[in-house]
Amino acid sequence: MFNMVIFGPPGCGKGTQAARIVQNHGFLHISTGDLIRNEISAGTAMGQLYNKFISRGMLVPDQIILKELYRFALNHSNAKGIIFDGFPRTLYQAQMLDRIFIKRKMKIGLVISIDVPEEELMNRVLERGKTSGRSDDNEMIMNNRLMVYFSQTQPVIEYYRKTKRLVSIDGNQHIDTVAAIIDKTIRNHM
Ligand code: AMP
Repeated sequence: MFNMVIFGPPGCGKGTQAARIVQNHGFLHISTGDLIRNEISAGTAMGQLYNKFISRGMLVPDQIILKELYRFALNHSNAKGIIFDGFPRTLYQAQMLDRIFIKRKMKIGLVISIDVPEEELMNRVLERGKTSGRSDDNEMIMNNRLMVYFSQTQPVIEYYRKTKRLVSIDGNQHIDTVAAIIDKTIRNHM
């Protein structure tokens, strides 16, 4: 089983590239953002709670997101590999993921970080907002999401760098170019 994380700021293209990886390698795609949006559109009590965070560009608290992830992963435990997209987003989440995996003799073998300049991230998210229907794809909330990314999420990079699992990729290139580099990187690590 090969497990990996696709990592980067909002608008870097994580979701798009994760979909390509799923196509090429058949991994199970776990996007915590999608899990949250599914709960919100199903109108569940959890969805109502999630909406309070997502609509402000804030992170859902660690314990809640970990429970959601655990529930989903347990229902798909026979996957040939997992790609985590939008998770982990805090140092605590990264440490908990390793802890949960070690217990099951599993590991995160590769973390791909997609680098994109900040002004380009804003342009992409505003462009996506025209069609995505996502309430958080607007300038005010995106500013919060970027602030949250730089303060709470970016430190996770150092954690993976120290444990020698990090590969950084220039995401300011054509989607197909980025996809090809990612694919080669995965094949080199499998
Ligand atoms: P995304 O689709 O990955 O951009 O996530 C959209 C929003 O969902 C984020 O701005 C957070 O509010 C929430 N979210 C997604 N993943 C996480 C996570 N791992 N931890 C906390 N909040 C999350």
